[in-house]
Amino acid sequence: MNTTQKPLIEICGDVRAGKVTARSRVESYLAAIAAKDAEIHAFNEIHADAARAQADAVDAAVKAGRDPGALAGAVIAIKDNIVMREGRTTCSSKMLANYRSPFDATVIDKLRAAGAVFIGKTNLDEFAMGSSTENSAFGVTKNPHDTTRVAGGSSGGSAAAVAAGFCDAALGSDTGGSIRQPAALCGCVGFKPTYGRVSRYGLVAFGSSLDQIGPFARTVADATLVYDALVGRDASDSTTADVAHEPLAAKVAQPVAKLRVGIPREYKSSANSPAVAAAFERAIAAARAFGAEIVDVELPLTDLGISTYYVIAPAEASSNLARYDGIRYGHRAKLAPGEDLEDLYSKSRAEGFGPEVQRRIMLGTYVLSSGYYDAYYKRALQVRRLIKEEFDRAFAKCDVILGPTSPIPAFPIGGMKDPLSMYMCDVYTVNTNIAGIPGISINAGFADEGGKKLPIGIQLQAKAFDEETLLRAAGMFERAQL
Ligand code: GLN
Repeated sequence: MNTTQKPLIEICGDVRAGKVTARSRVESYLAAIAAKDAEIHAFNEIHADAARAQADAVDAAVKAGRDPGALAGAVIAIKDNIVMREGRTTCSSKMLANYRSPFDATVIDKLRAAGAVFIGKTNLDEFAMGSSTENSAFGVTKNPHDTTRVAGGSSGGSAAAVAAGFCDAALGSDTGGSIRQPAALCGCVGFKPTYGRVSRYGLVAFGSSLDQIGPFARTVADATLVYDALVGRDASDSTTADVAHEPLAAKVAQPVAKLRVGIPREYKSSANSPAVAAAFERAIAAARAFGAEIVDVELPLTDLGISTYYVIAPAEASSNLARYDGIRYGHRAKLAPGEDLEDLYSKSRAEGFGPEVQRRIMLGTYVLSSGYYDAYYKRALQVRRLIKEEFDRAFAKCDVILGPTSPIPAFPIGGMKDPLSMYMCDVYTVNTNIAGIPGISINAGFADEGGKKLPIGIQLQAKAFDEETLLRAAGMFERAQL
């Protein structure tokens, strides 16, 4: 990845000043995609003509003396579970292989209004369920740093698109780590805002109490610029918070005075690979070196996050995915003579959903069924409360919590067969969503593996709605060049 590239804020300034055209920027990204995406498969669909038309409209506005917006000419890729009028929105599922949305998600409206240009839709694990993008119905996304390895997931296409130099930034969704983990594995920045900061209207729902949209970018400053355009109360999503937001892009380079960095003892786990453990130590040493106070904190429920998440998220998914029945939405199976409506539902769903999605639906309906509801779902909600309280106690002592994003770097494609080991990859990311707080992953160096350099990410988490501290602290770690 080329981090020596100009900051996005300057690039957009150049577009607004007429020094560079949005059209030429789109053409160079289209050329990069044409040269390399057949191998990487970051995209499900490229919107070349629509992107050119959007870019021309930006350039025409500049020529006419109008201001096209803060993201003028920024080329952005969109995860294929966020609806937009251009092209299809497939969620990388056979179920929605031909679905065309009649409307734009709120985040799409906002980016469009800010002058951004959409280059295409990125691959994901089907319905955002997974940590490797291997669960896509349309083929796996490869890690640009080593194409024999996964890009992470579920927003693997968005992470790979940024890392491969196919766009300036990308949008992803994060229910239990799906922005931060692929960002870590691909060596870019991935940022999940506080639950309620960004409208979910037009994001195909997975776990509605956990889902949040956020940006991938080359740098913390670039991610912040995109984030500034996304935030705000939206009448179409009643869970968006009415909390003031001051644009942070201009502030993000300012260090936080007297930053207190919390280090949970539980994050120094033996499950961390040696390269991840070393990156974590480098980050702690860097924080000391830039004058932060290092504070020991306790998050004893860290391990329970996985079981809590894998009850709550499937429960919500089983309800959200009930609409894909071949009648209201989605793939419709052909019936044999004598088959009835029940057969239509079950055949359509059996043909349309892949194995991981079916597993989640079964898990979800099981934990919600009478007799098991109290033992699983209600219990998980109680643990959710305890996890929130545990973070509150930690944030009484520190401003940000530092740890690994993923216990391991990118693993070989096809190398993780058992679903439970895949779920364990989310140990550091799911609790962020369970508590509804913001989290960001930035690069913290590389592991040497068979002659390839595999990126390692570190994660910072902060109090709900304290994105300012989170992003400014992330900038401090980024400048330390771990
Ligand atoms: N890997 C997690 C899962 O499979 C998280 C996915 C996500 O954040 N969308 O559910």
